[in-house]
Amino acid sequence: MAKAKANTDLCKGCRLCVANCPKKAITALEVVNKKGYEIIEVNEELCIGCGICYKVCPDYVFTVE
Ligand code: SF4
Ligand code: SF4
Repeated sequence: MAKAKANTDLCKGCRLCVANCPKKAITALEVVNKKGYEIIEVNEELCIGCGICYKVCPDYVFTVE
């Protein structure tokens, strides 16, 4: 099954993906990337590869494989 992968170096911490994931598979972390934004993490156990995160992320953080 397809899974979302996140390149969190590109994340801007907007959390649109967290709000829109239908499986609640994306968690906001209290960890910042090199740009100083709080990043997210995908739980691959919960992810169904629906691609919604890919569509909503303004910064092209996700690939769905
Ligand atoms: S939608 Fe994209 S930029 Fe916004 S928190 Fe999620 S991964 Fe980061
Ligand atoms: S592909 Fe779908 S289920 Fe997986 S993390 Fe993205 S929005 Fe959530």
